[in-house]
Amino acid sequence: MTRGPAVGRTVGVLALQGAFFAHQIAFESLGQQTIQVRNEEDLGLVDALVFPGGESTAMSHLLRTSEMFEPIQARLSEGMPAFGTCAGMIMLSTAVIDGRHDQRSFGVIDIDVQRNAYGRQIDSFETDINVEGLHEPFHASFIRAPQVVRCGSGVSVLASLADSPILVKQNSVMVAAFHPELGVDSRVHAMFLEML
Ligand code: GLN
Repeated sequence: MTRGPAVGRTVGVLALQGAFFAHQIAFESLGQQTIQVRNEEDLGLVDALVFPGGESTAMSHLLRTSEMFEPIQARLSEGMPAFGTCAGMIMLSTAVIDGRHDQRSFGVIDIDVQRNAYGRQIDSFETDINVEGLHEPFHASFIRAPQVVRCGSGVSVLASLADSPILVKQNSVMVAAFHPELGVDSRVHAMFLEML
């Protein structure tokens, strides 16, 4: 079951790097308007921000060179809802293990993540997962995925794989280790819209 768009709300997709377009397609399949966010002017137009998959070291670097880290941090600290997938999960987490020395994260969800923790041999895999609140399993793609290695007590675990949380939520922030934007199933995106 999918729900309708968050009426009157604009969802921004951070479009500095990575698979942002796939998120736009997923939201638009739900009738939810999105815009690409590249600068402060774009950021001022959105009610929520999506951090896509890609490469968190590059995303961190581009946020610094485009002077977007601080403005986004300010919006997040005011409670702007955020949804991060894979590299986006890394960007929103509290601590990043195996990151680049100058890599920054926003620290708005109380988890620590280890980059590329699912190993080189299985760089990419797909599996069906059970997600709290969804009646049917969700087909999840993992691509050089981060692993949650610490999860604070205020964080709700919505899905796990082999005892590791892979979809978690705290206040208005939801993050996934996998890529719900790949494929045609937009139920996880609909869950995020329900948070707005
Ligand atoms: N390993 C990547 C990183 O550290 C994330 C991979 C992805 O987003 N598919 O940023």
